Amino acid sequence: MRIDIISVVPELMQSAFSHSILKRAIAAGLVEVNLINLRDYAIGKQKQVDDYAFGGGAGMVLMIEPIAACINDLKSKRHYDEVIYMSPDGQRLTQKISNQLSLIKSIIILCGHYKGVDERVREHFITREISIGDYVLSGGELPAAVLSDSIIRLLPGVLNDETSALSDSFQDNLLAPPVYTRPSEYKGWAVPEVLLSGHGKKIEQWRHEQSLLRTTQRRPDLLL
Ligand code: SAH
Repeated sequence: MRIDIISVVPELMQSAFSHSILKRAIAAGLVEVNLINLRDYAIGKQKQVDDYAFGGGAGMVLMIEPIAACINDLKSKRHYDEVIYMSPDGQRLTQKISNQLSLIKSIIILCGHYKGVDERVREHFITREISIGDYVLSGGELPAAVLSDSIIRLLPGVLNDETSALSDSFQDNLLAPPVYTRPSEYKGWAVPEVLLSGHGKKIEQWRHEQSLLRTTQRRPDLLL
């Protein structure tokens, strides 16, 4: 898979892809992530990428020309399955959407900044708009990193144990069961006996029950 992320502050995302699971996935060649600086496509002597909003009001708007030049340049080199704009008014991100996106081969993610991007970009270049929740952030960079992380960890070979992503919350509409590690007892607080039993079937059953219980208690809406 290839993910190309367009931003005016790509540095904001560097750390997200430089550590732990995502770093290993990139190093292993399971995904290629390119952080593209929109300023490389800036126009005029001023190297401009944003301008005041028509009609007035506070806040700058990212201009269509550099964004169009950037997307067209990328598209001239390869096909993209989706051109996604991160936006608070987009479709709310769920595990189901991440699962779907993990099956495609190449994605452009456009990060807005300031007041957002010129509406004509959304009308003519964007195939899908995704929000990471009902709150407003300063830019699309953290949302793009969130979306990318949720997709990349699903790619075959990224997590050590193939079943690992499948046992996480929201797969099968269930929350994950509690987990424990050593010591088996801390200040008298013991780990559930069954987990120490070595009895695979019983452990699996316990985990399933705990998942159901937790989902019923915390997110009954998932069971509907
Ligand atoms: N004026 C816009 C918000 C702009 S915030 C509005 O009221 O809807 C600046 C940029 O941050 C947006 O263009 C978008 O790319 C990103 N952003 C902010 N909050 C986001 C969220 N919840 N999900 C995805 N992207 C978000």
